[in-house]
Amino acid sequence: MYPFTLERPSTLADAAKQALAGATPLAGGQTLLAAMKLRLSNPGQLADLSGIKELTGIRREGNAFVIGAMTRHLDVANHAEIKAALPALADLANNIGDRQVRAMGTLGGSVANNDPSACYPAAVLALGATIHTTKRKIAAEYFFLGMFSTALDAGELITAISFPIPKRAAYMKFKQPASRFALVGVFVAQFDTGARVAVTGAASGVFRHKGLEDAISKNFTPQAAASVKIDATDLNSDIHGSAAYRANLISVLTQRGVAKAMA
Ligand SMILES: Cc1cc2nc3c(=O)[nH]c(=O)nc-3n(C[C@H](O)[C@H](O)[C@H](O)COP(=O)(O)OP(=O)(O)OC[C@H]3O[C@@H](n4cnc5c(N)ncnc54)[C@H](O)[C@@H]3O)c2cc1C
Repeated sequence: MYPFTLERPSTLADAAKQALAGATPLAGGQTLLAAMKLRLSNPGQLADLSGIKELTGIRREGNAFVIGAMTRHLDVANHAEIKAALPALADLANNIGDRQVRAMGTLGGSVANNDPSACYPAAVLALGATIHTTKRKIAAEYFFLGMFSTALDAGELITAISFPIPKRAAYMKFKQPASRFALVGVFVAQFDTGARVAVTGAASGVFRHKGLEDAISKNFTPQAAASVKIDATDLNSDIHGSAAYRANLISVLTQRGVAKAMA
């Protein structure tokens, strides 16, 4: 690990000031500290966000849940209102990593990091969530810019994310057995306006699948999902699975997701 200094702001205003001055935000450290230990990341100054009350908590606002950036995965997994109204999101959080990762990992850290195999980006995109930052509100469509890349400017912090509540939804993940990240994960959501399908793990970043969305918007059944041919052209191929294998997983997980959402 390279040497660094640590700030512990207690207000969002102080954290925002420190981030604008060049401090790297530290959430649960589940990615950042590991990268620092491996000397893959060398922030001269960290701003630990864990003491900032404004960044935590879950509240219902109309037909959406607004979740603070520092909310831990376990808190989403165990939240009674989310479990009742948006169980797919609680289920997603409950299947991230292991118990220790869920106890420390945060919504904001996961979404800011935008790992191409992370689970939350699929929920953010499929639910048409809005990312609240210290500068603005960013629609999910414009937030994810490919592998580990987002629309956040230097020094801009995620403060919360608001998730619209769909009629029904499900997240299906085929775990990479060593890391427990998604080899492929599919989030399916049905709204009055149609269905949305977001895929993680299969390509260089999370993406929506228009063919699947069109099919299950017309007919929300596993059979309709199965009728869509998944093009493997731009999908990842690696030691864990070929592009064709991932394409098949997208189809199968969407069918299972629709079946689960209907149950
Ligand atoms: C063993 C293991 C298994 C895992 N399995 C899964 C899995 O199955 N599915 C999954 O989705 N994830 C998984 N993860 C990732 C985990 O869910 C964490 O959310 C993720 O690592 C980010 O960690 P963190 O929230 O502690 O953020 P940190 O590591 O503290 O920060 C990550 C990055 O985000 C930036 N950042 C943090 N907060 C903010 C903010 N509010 N605004 C702007 N930038 C910010 C930091 O500067 C840093 O660049 C796993 C991690 C581990 C270690």
